[in-house]
Amino acid sequence: GKRAMGKASAEALTEAATGPLAPVIPDYEGLAAYRATGGYGTYEKIRAGDISPEAAIETMSDAGLRGLGGAGFPAGKKWGFVRGYEGPRLMTVNGDEGEPGTFKDRWWLERQPHRMLEGALIAAHVVGCERIYIYMRDEYPAVLEILRAEVEALEHAGLAHVPIEIRRGAGAYICGEESAMIESIEGKRGLPRHRPPYIAEVGLFGRPTLNHNVETLLWVPEILRHGAAWFADQGQDADHSGLRSYSVSGRVAEPGVKLAPAGIPLRQLIEEHCGGMAEGHELKAFLPGGASGGIFPASMADTPLNFGCFEPHGGFIGSHAVMILSQQDSIREAVLNLIRFFEHESCGQCTPCRSGTAKAAAILAGDAPSTDLLNDLVTVMTDSSICGLGQAAGNPIRHLIRYFPEELA
Ligand code: SF4
Repeated sequence: GKRAMGKASAEALTEAATGPLAPVIPDYEGLAAYRATGGYGTYEKIRAGDISPEAAIETMSDAGLRGLGGAGFPAGKKWGFVRGYEGPRLMTVNGDEGEPGTFKDRWWLERQPHRMLEGALIAAHVVGCERIYIYMRDEYPAVLEILRAEVEALEHAGLAHVPIEIRRGAGAYICGEESAMIESIEGKRGLPRHRPPYIAEVGLFGRPTLNHNVETLLWVPEILRHGAAWFADQGQDADHSGLRSYSVSGRVAEPGVKLAPAGIPLRQLIEEHCGGMAEGHELKAFLPGGASGGIFPASMADTPLNFGCFEPHGGFIGSHAVMILSQQDSIREAVLNLIRFFEHESCGQCTPCRSGTAKAAAILAGDAPSTDLLNDLVTVMTDSSICGLGQAAGNPIRHLIRYFPEELA
């Protein structure tokens, strides 16, 4: 196998592996193996001043690297913003990955954890962050063990210039929302904050905070090593930059994490990366961005899968969790399932979301759902909820009414 780690990390894993609920640790690339292929070379160049912070920010912008946790905010721009606020600054890595259908961060961390760690250290150095907090969901016990061992190995090797702390989530979907995650790291209940101020200015412990998703960070060392054009040119065409990790699930022959160009249309993703539809299934509908990104008919399978492409239709690509439904699936049942999920995961802080999701679920489960009532309810939820959960929870309902009206009849 590829695993090659220091004595201390091997002992830590052995100890963790003896408990009654010990996770199965996959065969992953440890520190020595990562370094043997040039790993941490870019980080060392940055620290030595061979690549200036300004040049690193420019490279991220030229590469078109976007935040891959779902928001798609340009990474270079974010680095510039946070760096512009007076220190001390902090950094958070969002590994909560709770969006239904999303499993790419876990996939990467169970294989190459040091790509993310090197990216985090580079970003912290460029932006001038004094400490890195990795917020990792507790449902990924193997990832937690791997990160504990590999952060310890990094510290033993004297590689990290700032402390790295690992914080465990406790199963709340809302803690994947960046301001709720920050509340959780601070030891409070995970309630999203009102904005402004944005966390770039007033974040963790009141300090300017750089927050990144796991996948965003793992592209950072690769882009700095191979150049902005290397990354940008791997997009579908000139309008779409870079590679993406799509989490594909549902009625395809070969579901899983698919590394494919940004902007690839769903039809091509299914045919060229997923072995086509599963036997006996025809494409009926798809969710481009997990539970929140909306649900679309097969007629939209040629829309590019990228930020900005589903927004005109009331949806979004989010964390690139693509779920495929077929003629054997009820869209109404699928939407009801999503709304019940949102009802369960609403933090309860604001009424439009707390009561709106419960009411929407009750109406959808009833005999003759009123589309006028559903539309009114969704409008109120979208316009007056504090955070993205309540604002986006109505997307699949709108799409059910617009694209699949026969299922409500
Ligand atoms: Fe909480 Fe929902 Fe309001 Fe977000 S929209 S703050 S999840 S109640």
